[in-house]
Amino acid sequence: MDRSISQGISGRYWHALADGRVQCDVCPRYCKLNEGQRGLCFVRARHNDGIVLTTYGRSSGFCIDPIEKKPLNHFLPGTPVLSFGTAGCNLTCKFCQNWDISKARVFDRLQDEASPEAIAEAAVRTGCRSVAFTYNDPVIFLEYAVDVAQACRARGIKTVAVSAGYIAPEPRVELFRHMDAANIDLKGFTEGFYRNLCTGRLAPVLETLEYVTHATDVWLEITTLLIPGENDSVAEIEAESRWVMEHLGPDVPLHFTAFHPDWKMTDKPPTPPATLRRARTIAMEAGIRYVYTGNIHDPAGQTTYCHGCRTALIGRDWYELGAWTLSAEGRCRACGTPCAGVFDAGHGDWGRRRQAVSVEAL
Ligand code: SF4
Repeated sequence: MDRSISQGISGRYWHALADGRVQCDVCPRYCKLNEGQRGLCFVRARHNDGIVLTTYGRSSGFCIDPIEKKPLNHFLPGTPVLSFGTAGCNLTCKFCQNWDISKARVFDRLQDEASPEAIAEAAVRTGCRSVAFTYNDPVIFLEYAVDVAQACRARGIKTVAVSAGYIAPEPRVELFRHMDAANIDLKGFTEGFYRNLCTGRLAPVLETLEYVTHATDVWLEITTLLIPGENDSVAEIEAESRWVMEHLGPDVPLHFTAFHPDWKMTDKPPTPPATLRRARTIAMEAGIRYVYTGNIHDPAGQTTYCHGCRTALIGRDWYELGAWTLSAEGRCRACGTPCAGVFDAGHGDWGRRRQAVSVEAL
């Protein structure tokens, strides 16, 4: 027996099937497992007639990033966020931009043993306002993410889920109850894209976006990585923008980010900046108020503008903040229109730094 399975902690959301297998009910894959077998995500496995999580307390390392890198542009701008992930993933995206972590099949990728309390304490001591579950998807390490989130909230630290939103209805309620903000990928806007490039489905992701927007207090932003020839047509961007407007409303920020050839998709070129700017224009014309470009140098596409008078509210050059014309109440100082988001009276000054942190050493 693999030691990481026999030492795994009991997982939630599963049930026994009549044929003797056990079904994991965490994500819409609903893996049906025999004893000792792992799910597609690799980190949940059947052990002793239940499901265990094999990565509890084990991280791929900790870094302090600017919150804008998650990306979140309307959640405590300019502040540092303590970021970590574990290993594995429940989607199989051919264009994965974090494949060294998400595809990890050996646990020597996992460096730091970190208890929820140690992580929350590290965030306090390093001056971070929040902790982000990122690099891979917290859906698959839900029990660990929830315990870390509870430890963080007990110390006044906020929590951020960076996720593909590929989660079943019941665990969805639990995961997002413990989050303060989320950036959820909307990887494409056709079932064919999800089926062919991610071996997943679009519909559960849309359900998650609607659930988070309408049934929780979680601050939500959306990211779509535009891949040339795959999901960047005018028709697809228009359809996505219309759906966001109709189902989520105009105040959910949308980020169009640049693809770089990686993992199993090295035959596509990087996304041209013009494609990202065109997508931003389409989404804004559809009525979405806050639309951004990402992974390219584009100060105009990364600045937050007042949707009432177009004043630059939060200027950005990469992750450096410039103009700040928001009042203490989060309104435009020029015309008084409120800006959607979670803001303090001022902004943080973390800048573009990325700093590795050893949690045990703190
Ligand atoms: S979380 Fe993992 S084991 Fe559970 S259904 Fe999804 S891929 Fe399968």
